[in-house]
Amino acid sequence: MSYPPPAVVSPRATPLAAARSVLFRSWTSFRFEIALILTILVVVWGAVGAHLVVERREIEENVRSAALNIAGAAEQGVARTIEAIDQRLRFARDAYRRDPQGFSLDFVATDNGYNDGMMAQLALIDARGRLRQTNLGPTNGTLDLSDRAHFRVHLEEPADTLFISRPVLGRVSNRWTVQFTRKVFAPDGSFAGVVVCSFDPYWMTQFHELLDFSGNMILLGQDGIVRAAAPDGTMLGHDLSETPLGRAAAATDHGSLRITPTDGSQGQAVSFRRLRNYPVTVAVGMDMAPLMANFDALFSLTVALGSGITLLVLVVGFLLIRHKHRVLASHEVLRHAIENLDQGLLMVDRHGRISLRNTRYVTLLGLPQGMAETGEDHAPVAEWQAARGELCPLGAEPCGQAGPAGPEREAGLRFGELLRPDGTVIEIRTRMLADGGLVSTYTDITDRLRAQERIQHLAHHDGLTDLANRILLKERLMQAMALAERGGGRLAVLCLDLNRFKPVNDTLGHAAGDEVLRQTAERLRGLSRTSDIVARVGGDEFVFVQTAVSRAADAAALAERIVVRIARPFDVSGYAVNIDTSIGIAIFPDDGRTVEALLKNADTALYRAKAAGRGVTRFFEAEMEVRLRERGLLEHDLRHALGNGEFAVSFQPVYACHTREVVSYEVLLRWEHPVRGQVSPADFIPVAEECGLMLVLGRWVLEQACKAAAAWMQPYVVAVNLSPVQFQHGDLPSEVAGILARTGLPAGRLELEITEGLLIEDAEGALAAMRALKALGVRLALDDFGTGYSSLVYLRRFPFDRLKIARSFIQATELDGSARPIVNAIIALGRSLNLRVTAEGVETEQQLALLRELDCDEVQGFLLGRPIPEERLRESLAGEPRRQRA
Ligand code: C2E
Ligand code: CA
Ligand code: CA
Repeated sequence: MSYPPPAVVSPRATPLAAARSVLFRSWTSFRFEIALILTILVVVWGAVGAHLVVERREIEENVRSAALNIAGAAEQGVARTIEAIDQRLRFARDAYRRDPQGFSLDFVATDNGYNDGMMAQLALIDARGRLRQTNLGPTNGTLDLSDRAHFRVHLEEPADTLFISRPVLGRVSNRWTVQFTRKVFAPDGSFAGVVVCSFDPYWMTQFHELLDFSGNMILLGQDGIVRAAAPDGTMLGHDLSETPLGRAAAATDHGSLRITPTDGSQGQAVSFRRLRNYPVTVAVGMDMAPLMANFDALFSLTVALGSGITLLVLVVGFLLIRHKHRVLASHEVLRHAIENLDQGLLMVDRHGRISLRNTRYVTLLGLPQGMAETGEDHAPVAEWQAARGELCPLGAEPCGQAGPAGPEREAGLRFGELLRPDGTVIEIRTRMLADGGLVSTYTDITDRLRAQERIQHLAHHDGLTDLANRILLKERLMQAMALAERGGGRLAVLCLDLNRFKPVNDTLGHAAGDEVLRQTAERLRGLSRTSDIVARVGGDEFVFVQTAVSRAADAAALAERIVVRIARPFDVSGYAVNIDTSIGIAIFPDDGRTVEALLKNADTALYRAKAAGRGVTRFFEAEMEVRLRERGLLEHDLRHALGNGEFAVSFQPVYACHTREVVSYEVLLRWEHPVRGQVSPADFIPVAEECGLMLVLGRWVLEQACKAAAAWMQPYVVAVNLSPVQFQHGDLPSEVAGILARTGLPAGRLELEITEGLLIEDAEGALAAMRALKALGVRLALDDFGTGYSSLVYLRRFPFDRLKIARSFIQATELDGSARPIVNAIIALGRSLNLRVTAEGVETEQQLALLRELDCDEVQGFLLGRPIPEERLRESLAGEPRRQRA
């Protein structure tokens, strides 16, 4: 999975801008959560504030009403006190009016009501303002009090009301007194003065002590001056007319107000009431502090609670945001993953809307820009596809036959393949979801299919020639057999093997060899019909299956065409290369009904064809197989024969034709098989050559021959037959030199017999080896002349010393009239090329006579000497006189 590269930070981005962008991203991602948290906090603190305000209001209200109640109670108390004083004043003046002359204040002394200590003094002031009487003692009537307010008010105001003076601090007594005064009337009703009651103001507010509350109480006159105050008298005489309380009291009978001092203390809740019958207002001030202490506790508690909730909300909010952040982050990772998928992905919900798709989906399907956006209907996409004939129904039946069969085909999973106009193949897998939606993946399988095809091709074709390989051959042969079986027809299986291919590889290189194989394949292909099969099954082995064969002759004709076609020179980088082919043919159903049997039998036929020479075609025959099995057994035994000491060499003498003297001995290999007895070299030598034993065997014979000859007293030449494989493998000249050196045989006494086959197979290699051997001093003989190509070119080109006329010619001289001139010609040919000529297989005196007549150099045959075992030869040679050879 790959992620897109990190966003490139522009060089102008500062930490501040980065922080801002982070904040902005946080805000856009989490604005809902942040708004929620803020809202909760606002609500919480709103509730806290409202609660506190309500609580405070309530407390204040309670205080106010308490103050009002207390003020009410105080009003009554004060009213009663004033009433009592007023009664005394009215009693005194009534007494005066009844009897001005006899009026005396002495009764005060006897009246308990006057002696309760509240009253400081009771006095009578006459109409002129002079103190006439006082209960404290006699007066001389000279003390003028006419300037006093409590006198003047009664003098000047007509109304008969109780007057209450401002408090006055007695100069002598140092006590505060308030004067309560009333007009005094003469019996005729005229103004006769004023009766005064000096009263300690303490008593007016005395019951304050009974009312247990924290606060104070004052009595205000209508002028706003404090007449009495409790619990202490510091306020006495103060003018409150310009204070809020003074103004409020002047304005209304009763009311409440809050007094907040500037020093920051809690202040007071004040309630006041004006007395109904007297010009006095009672004001009760309740201290807020003790009550507010409760409120403060409540305030702290509520704020603490609010803070707690705030903390909780913040923590929960943080967790919420963190959770969402993680979810978003994982979403982001998922989105990247999906976006970077190599597959196209499409999710459609149950309403047919595209709930998810990646860009790969759009590009794979080649959808136009703007189509198939997330959240849109899928229907237009399907229509678009249908219009182009590309529709692979998403929810319908599985389309196409692609996709795995069997257990992999799950329920709800559909497969489809889509061939796009550009040749790409897209595999579509659709899974239906339980809720009615679906998920589809789109995979570009073009490369996979191509690779599969390629692998399939490689697995069934030969890499070099692109012909069918053995696997495909078997497959197609099986099909062709089935077809032929039904139609009652035949097939021909032709096994081909190139001859002389190996030297091309060795001399011109493998590239040239490959080129020859390619051209061979091309030629074979050119000869095939569509129903035929051409395969390469080995290095230079091909199989050609000819179909629709009615007669064996058809196959023979094809084989002939192939032989001719392959025999044409190949042009390999400027060289003309000559190759030919041997062909073995097996016919279906005659030669086999299975692929294996047909191929094996065609191969057997090929083997026989090769044995018969180059460019030969052979049909399979049942006895071939028997022979081949026999050959297999022989090969098996051969492998153990040398180790078991079953081989021996025998020596056949060669005589000078005219003198009948032995000139040389030819070494012939003998195999004494423990069961079969004597096995002819003509039977086992070809097998040894093919199974690779000939090299060892040939070296062994050469060693035995040289060792034996070296031991002879007479210096006879020893002739050893060589197989072509001894030339083709290993370094024959140095091997021969080594054996000569080891055995001590002079090179001049060794003659090597070679057949024409060697010269045909690898003329250049043979020539080089022969020259090297000649350089050692070894002689060379061309064996069995006349049976092969008998080309004069060989005789001229190769450095032979001797020519051996094949036995068949010698024996034919007695039966066939034409044989004699041939033998004559060969002898003449040898003579002209300066070669000695030996006639093989001389069995009769007539043959010998003829050869003598034709002036043949040497003769060899049963007539004069059969091959004899080594020991016997040694014995007979020991009896012969020692000779020195010329
Ligand atoms: P070849 O080189 O032509 O050897 C001569 C064959 O003729 C021998 O057969 C010999 O026994 C046989 N022969 C000789 N005189 C007469 C006769 O008057 N009448 C008849 N009917 N046959 C006669 P042999 O030993 O069976 O060998 C057969 C072939 O096997 C040889 O033909 C040679 O090509 C091959 N061969 C034998 N020994 C060796 C060997 O050591 N190395 C190789 N490479 N080939 C060998
Ligand atoms: Ca020979
Ligand atoms: Ca021979």
